[in-house]
Amino acid sequence: MRAIRLLVVAGLILAALIGAAVLRPSSGSAQPPGASGYLVLSKEGRQPLAVALLNGHEMVSLDDVGRLFGATVKEDQVARGLVVTVQGKTIALSGTQGLASIGGRVVSLSTPPARSGSSWFVPVDFIDRALALVYEPKLDVRTRSRLIVVGDVRVPRVALRVEPQAGQTRLIIDIAPPTAHSVVQEPGRLIVRVDADALDAELPTIVPNDVLRAAHLTPNAPAIGIELGPRFSTYRTADNVLDANQSRLTIDLVSSETRITSTPPPVTPSPFPAPTPPPARPPMFAENAPANMLRTIVLDPGHGGEKEGAHGPGGSLEKHITLAIAKQLKTALEAKLGVRVLLTREDDRLMKLDERAAFANNNKADIFISLHTNASVRSSITGTSVYYLSLSDYTDEARRVAIAENGQALPTIAGADRQVELILWEMAQVQHIEQSAALAGVIERRLGERVKMNSRAIQQAPFRVLVGANMPAVLVEMGFISNPGEEKQLNSPAFQQAIVQSLVASMVSFREYLEGRRATAPHVPVPVGAPRPSVPQPQLPEPRER
Ligand SMILES: [Zn+2]
Repeated sequence: MRAIRLLVVAGLILAALIGAAVLRPSSGSAQPPGASGYLVLSKEGRQPLAVALLNGHEMVSLDDVGRLFGATVKEDQVARGLVVTVQGKTIALSGTQGLASIGGRVVSLSTPPARSGSSWFVPVDFIDRALALVYEPKLDVRTRSRLIVVGDVRVPRVALRVEPQAGQTRLIIDIAPPTAHSVVQEPGRLIVRVDADALDAELPTIVPNDVLRAAHLTPNAPAIGIELGPRFSTYRTADNVLDANQSRLTIDLVSSETRITSTPPPVTPSPFPAPTPPPARPPMFAENAPANMLRTIVLDPGHGGEKEGAHGPGGSLEKHITLAIAKQLKTALEAKLGVRVLLTREDDRLMKLDERAAFANNNKADIFISLHTNASVRSSITGTSVYYLSLSDYTDEARRVAIAENGQALPTIAGADRQVELILWEMAQVQHIEQSAALAGVIERRLGERVKMNSRAIQQAPFRVLVGANMPAVLVEMGFISNPGEEKQLNSPAFQQAIVQSLVASMVSFREYLEGRRATAPHVPVPVGAPRPSVPQPQLPEPRER
């Protein structure tokens, strides 16, 4: 059962000065104060930012943005847009499309600006997608808890979950980044205090039992109140540093009806409250440092919703296979590489091609991989292949596949009547073509170790989904669903795992390639549009697994 999560915002550091005596359960903690708006947290304190619903979008007034962030706004009648100036830098907003241009970089917004009364409104994502790119100090928008964190304000994410066990109830509280905290007992409750300015907290609805009645954020302090039930007798805590980015506090609430012989907490108790935060452990795979070369990977399961993709003769749909493999790949990449992996879609939904690239851009992905299955009118054609973007010349076969995937031919790049923003959007991938080619080369080799490749295993094609991706990006056609044997294979766990393992190995190799390249290799641009350019072949180390 999926617990309904309540999103709650905690209070200020000032409240830490107020004694525990005034801490009391918040009433109606489901609705934080100003739930419809955002709270801007900075060193100077906190300020509300009102949110208006315009045409179904959550928008903020540029007047408020100007007041809070010192921005000025001018209408550009010629370009039919808006120019926002902040700290001497400009953000150009299209008046008709959800696009913003910042120093030549184009980002997408969920909706264009809208005028209401005498004020201009922009979508809330303007703040993290556009303003945050130029603003100092850094802006961190926490959509879930409706916080905008300005600069070096400590607002750790805190997620609590409850595990009922025999004779006791276990509370698991994950804190990211690891932050010093303490647990103190008061009559009828425990208070988990966190050494922070505020909490970005996610608390579940509690099903009350004998030892636990409720959990809530305390109204004026960065702390969680745990209301105890009538049979509560004692508690035990344990701390564990999961990795450099996250620590876990486990609290077992023991029932008076249980002899205290139940399962001990999962880790050795540590002496919290500690005077200093837990030691930061090196991140996983620290031997691959600098680990920050590859932080976020966006996987794009092709098609979805009414766009079913290719159909197999046995009735399989491409959209289901791509999603199934993407989910397995996400799990494997997170476990093996310790990177953040996001899917453009997590379920069977329709998503536009440009939105997929925009999703990767907005999440600052370091790599974009679109997953597909190929199809041909000739059912005998088989094999896996890897594509990266071509901008002009391409083979008839590549054109056919691209038209099948795009739904239509890709319009010529940089047509004379296009708006500047659109040209920039369509050029996003150009600057990454060399690395995309290298990425495709790595993936082709690793795939070739485990699955049968197509006779043309690496190709360029004008895939719309790759055009706007502002990072190395490839599209993998994992096999021909139009071939009965490969259709069966594409549905088989063994083949799906082979694809997953190959792509995991590829990411390990590509990370090493990136690190070596930054250390040594000069930038060698690849001529754009060469019919069959030679793919830069990075020096690959031996695979690390097995
Ligand atoms: Zn496809």
